Amino acid sequence: MNDIQKEFIEIVADVRAHLEYRRALGIKTIEVNTLDVRTLRAQPATVTVPQEKTVIAAAAPPVVKETAKIMTATQTGQPMTLDAIREEMGDCTRCKLSGGRKNIVFGEGDPKAVIVFVGEGPGFEEDQQGRPFVGEAGQLLTDIIEKGMKIKRAEVYICNIVKCRPPGNRNPEPDEVESCIGFVKEQIRAINPKVIVTLGNVPTQNLLNTKQGITKIRGTWQSYEGIPVMPTFHPAYLLRSPGEKKKVWEDIQLVMKRLGMAVPAK
Ligand code: URA
Repeated sequence: MNDIQKEFIEIVADVRAHLEYRRALGIKTIEVNTLDVRTLRAQPATVTVPQEKTVIAAAAPPVVKETAKIMTATQTGQPMTLDAIREEMGDCTRCKLSGGRKNIVFGEGDPKAVIVFVGEGPGFEEDQQGRPFVGEAGQLLTDIIEKGMKIKRAEVYICNIVKCRPPGNRNPEPDEVESCIGFVKEQIRAINPKVIVTLGNVPTQNLLNTKQGITKIRGTWQSYEGIPVMPTFHPAYLLRSPGEKKKVWEDIQLVMKRLGMAVPAK
């Protein structure tokens, strides 16, 4: 057997393993994307996962990386509008999280917001309602915005790195982040805020392309595509460690100062 034949057999084995994994998760379809930019506006086609072993080998592999490239291909000329980005996302099946979701949680707020908050991914309540940060951690974030910053939640924009709930609220896996992160990047590009606040490790590390932990990096100005980024603790962490709220308030005060907002004495 020559090298090409060996490589082919390895690819087939990889594809089969991936399809069997998806089937075990209850996902019966796979996404077929092409790199043809003409398909940008089209919904990804779905095909039924074949049940016959012999046919599995012939099935097109799920192409997470190609999906990411498609998002990159949209980054030409003018930014997309938030509505266009949502339309592009469609009834997304780009990653395995789609199989377990009730709702896509795209994000919400002012399309011209000066501040964008980026979380990790929807939890149970967010999945139920299709809105970001509406559970217990969300209430705390709302308090930080409304009671701390003295602005309305609707005046900022709130979204997540992944738009579908990871099972059991686990962290999103790298392939899930890779499939979805293009959307949050396009959202940021559409809004063009003055400051981004990343909440916890997942958005901080993935947007800033760093492995630094949130404990070290929080409270220090970073930059994403020229936009100042303030990493801070995730509100869910504050629910477990209320003693850390003071640090988040310090980080938020830095944001307010940078934006020329009046910082309340306490
Ligand atoms: N945690 C997040 O990271 N995002 C949400 O939308 C809710 C909880």
